[in-house]
Amino acid sequence: MSRAGLRNSNPNMHDKSNVIVLGGSYAGARAARVLAKELPSSHRVILIEKNSHMQHLYVLPRYLLLSGHDHKAFIPYNDLFTEFSHNSAEVIQARVDRITPTHIEITRLPSDTTDRIPYSHLIYALGSHLPSPLKGMHEEIVGSMKWMEEYRKKVSNARDIILVGGGALGIRDIAEIFPDKRLLPKYDPKMHELIYDRLRRLNVDVVAGQRVTITREGDGDAGTVTTADGRVSASGDLLITCTGQKYNSSLLSSLSPSSVHPSNDSVLVRDTLQLADEIFSNVYAVGDVADTGAPKTGNAGYWQAETAARNVIRSIREEAMVPYVMTPPIIKVSVGLRYRVTQQPDENGAVRVWDDEEGRDDLDAHLMWPLFGAKAVDILNG
Ligand SMILES: Cc1cc2nc3c(=O)[nH]c(=O)nc-3n(C[C@H](O)[C@H](O)[C@H](O)COP(=O)(O)OP(=O)(O)OC[C@H]3O[C@@H](n4cnc5c(N)ncnc54)[C@H](O)[C@@H]3O)c2cc1C
Repeated sequence: MSRAGLRNSNPNMHDKSNVIVLGGSYAGARAARVLAKELPSSHRVILIEKNSHMQHLYVLPRYLLLSGHDHKAFIPYNDLFTEFSHNSAEVIQARVDRITPTHIEITRLPSDTTDRIPYSHLIYALGSHLPSPLKGMHEEIVGSMKWMEEYRKKVSNARDIILVGGGALGIRDIAEIFPDKRLLPKYDPKMHELIYDRLRRLNVDVVAGQRVTITREGDGDAGTVTTADGRVSASGDLLITCTGQKYNSSLLSSLSPSSVHPSNDSVLVRDTLQLADEIFSNVYAVGDVADTGAPKTGNAGYWQAETAARNVIRSIREEAMVPYVMTPPIIKVSVGLRYRVTQQPDENGAVRVWDDEEGRDDLDAHLMWPLFGAKAVDILNG
């Protein structure tokens, strides 16, 4: 798939101006769909994404342990714009190499041909670099599924698995070491209490409030983890690190160095989600990569994308823009196959945290498909 949803569109033709969205995940795809639905006919939307499909990250840690569901994690882009057929919209499978003040430079995949596309507005949604357990994912579905199968073999052959990092990814599904005194420190303390209690009951050794030194044995998967106070040192033949989120902002730092946070590399934005750098008022950033104060979740990125896309449309119509308003945090964490803990606001916005045993093996991956215009019928029927 290189041009899903292609419609009367040549991005280098000057009949329309291009609104380009970079990155087709939870945030970017939402922005692209809002634009496809509502852009005036003077503009077309182009989504640039290096993968042939959306990678549903939430379910991947589980699927790396449990076989039979991999195909549900990869959502094709073929129908991303189908329901907005009146508008000009296109997905280009390509890697973005450079952003200039007027163009983007890309390498189309899988052909490896290079191209330049002009833009009138740009939404930057390139997220974070994948955590190390997921580094082997491919740009095509078949390659990713093969890699997942190989990874599952490693997990089942490993005798001692050590997982470092107490965020949502670290907790999921597998001794546990994390630097904060509390798991998920950005969420309600009851989330920590319920998850911690469950991990203890599953005989998971939880080492809290410690930074660690990691020593790898050569280039392999084995390694040793030692806590800063030296009291805990553990070796494992499969050491998985789920620490240190790295924002994918380097392409923007070349365009506008002052837009990138000097210490954590997130992208500095105004409340309208335009870059803080006023020279580039036609460039917006959303999702994980944007410094909005919101938690780094797909849900927060989705709503930022909605705001940025609507502000692009407002700017084209010369209307006043609206600020991004942070939505209350929502998270669902599974510990084991059935048990899960959820934080979600009630109808008055008050924090609610509860646990249940209703989790499904595939973590209800099909619920994500319609958000990308895709029908989940095939995966539900096996
Ligand atoms: C394993 C895991 C599990 C998670 N579970 C949950 C959960 O249960 N609930 C929750 O709310 N959040 C969860 N999160 C966090 C959530 O996934 C992120 O907040 C979310 O992915 C951010 O979305 P995004 O669109 O900003 O960026 P990303 O999802 O990081 O997407 C960036 C996109 O840009 C593309 N891209 C990157 N560089 C280039 C380039 N040069 N050219 C072209 N394309 C490029 C990538 O392929 C990708 O599609 C999880 C994260 C991980 C890693």
